[in-house]
Amino acid sequence: MFLTVRKKIVMDAWETDDFIGGKLCLDFANTLELFDDGKIKDKIPNIDRFAGWLEFAQNLESDDVRWSLSPKITEKTVAGAFPDIQRFRKSLYEVFHAQADCQTPPQSALSEIYASLARSTLGVEPMASNGPGEEVIITGAEGLVYPIARSAVELLLNDSYCPVKECDADDCHWVFLDSCKSKRRRWCDMKTCGNRAKARRHYQGQKECRQC
Ligand SMILES: [Zn+2]
Repeated sequence: MFLTVRKKIVMDAWETDDFIGGKLCLDFANTLELFDDGKIKDKIPNIDRFAGWLEFAQNLESDDVRWSLSPKITEKTVAGAFPDIQRFRKSLYEVFHAQADCQTPPQSALSEIYASLARSTLGVEPMASNGPGEEVIITGAEGLVYPIARSAVELLLNDSYCPVKECDADDCHWVFLDSCKSKRRRWCDMKTCGNRAKARRHYQGQKECRQC
């Protein structure tokens, strides 16, 4: 079994704070973390880490599609899939960061996302759903990105407004879905980036007072 064998090793590495994007595709894009010196830290550098990420995400509450993995998915069947998964994630990163900057996303990256969704349908089968929304079983390596690709295309087809934003914190470049009514959400996570910004402002305020 692909995931269960590795679960203990790789699942510990993820926590709910890694999934604050509001959409699975944004959380996946945020596993490429840009630093101010221009370097990118890849939080999913291999298939093991992807397995842990997928397993962790499977148990989170979300509006995205629900999925389970067929016992047919084995380490052997997924071995060659990782380059496609990486290319797909790079496209997500390019498209949603462009959207957050109110720029037109690169056509090649958009095409890759749509192609990934089309490819991934070959590796899933629909399941009778107990709740609202779609439920699938992933039966082949192509299907591993299906829940992510589906969430991305759903977001891309939502043209009512530009809902993707990049965190306002100087040292954070995570993207997230602004689903606040006011559309004024500024931080990927109030607990971390929001509080740090508040603390900084407070500290600067105190400094000014001392200078008076
Ligand atoms: Zn942030």
